Amino acid sequence: MTQGTARVLSGPPAAAALLDEARRRAGRLPAVPHLALVRVGEDPASVSYVRGKAKKAAEVGLSSHVHALPDTTTQADLLALIDQLNADPAVSGILVQLPLPAHLDPAPALLAVHPAKDVDGLHPANTGALWNGHPGLRPCTPAGIMALLAHHGVPVRGVRAVVVGRSALVGRPLAGLLLNADATVTLAHGATPDLGQVTREADLLIVAAGQAHLITPDMIKPGATVVDVGINRVPTEDGKGRLTGDVHPGAAQVAGALTPVPGGVGPMTVAQLLMNTVIAAERQHDQLLTS
Ligand code: NDP
Repeated sequence: MTQGTARVLSGPPAAAALLDEARRRAGRLPAVPHLALVRVGEDPASVSYVRGKAKKAAEVGLSSHVHALPDTTTQADLLALIDQLNADPAVSGILVQLPLPAHLDPAPALLAVHPAKDVDGLHPANTGALWNGHPGLRPCTPAGIMALLAHHGVPVRGVRAVVVGRSALVGRPLAGLLLNADATVTLAHGATPDLGQVTREADLLIVAAGQAHLITPDMIKPGATVVDVGINRVPTEDGKGRLTGDVHPGAAQVAGALTPVPGGVGPMTVAQLLMNTVIAAERQHDQLLTS
């Protein structure tokens, strides 16, 4: 972790606060919210991520079940399971772990998840609601970043925000959330000429490009808040490699506040997934009361 003049926007306390809120709100519901985790095949990273999500769910007092399907699963089998989970009133949220094995198309699977149970927030009904400023389930990493900023008291309303990266998973939905929170938002990407000129305008700079140390200190406005979403493995002399962000460590000498990598945005994503499961359960409960 970089130690400089910038205030460190640490992820673990913000994630713990979000998990506490999820626990508290889940406790107010008549039934324990349930997260269905769908995994196909034995990709080691997916096995580990799904196990981690189930473990965290239990810590917060949510129930979960891992639906581990074999590598031989067909598209029809996968869609049939999602239909079954959509129809099951005991299931609050459904997460289809990506990547799927190469013979399966993720798009129809993500579309098949009912928007009310779409705890990943990636269904077009939810992304459309986000861009129109309507209620809906929000993608976990961007919503987790907003929670991180709120936890550390970083203002968003009225600030000049620049997001680097326009993926459907991070950059685009984050731009929508910042806009909904009344920031003035610029979205930069691989075809943006003179990236530094754009990033230097930012009071709040959020970088999700997946390029180690893309943002150098000279690209940062002095005193700006910098959120580093990137997770890049770079080689080390001992051959083990280490994780580093999209922002050069020297940024700590220029920025007013900075998220570390690791230990910044990372812990927020799973915490927000569990919060989304509780939000989905709350909405389904309210729907039952009003229907
Ligand atoms: P993608 O590869 O899907 O998107 C990267 C985006 O960055 C693209 O829009 C691309 O532009 C843009 N980009 C790449 N290089 C440059 C450049 N030189 N200048 C300007 N823009 C550039 O990545 P993700 O959004 O999925 O992830 C981004 C990073 O965040 C990764 O390191 C990933 O590991 C990390 N991540 C971390 C999470 C966490 O929990 N902490 C969760 C999710 C992701 P273009 O569209 O033009 O190609």
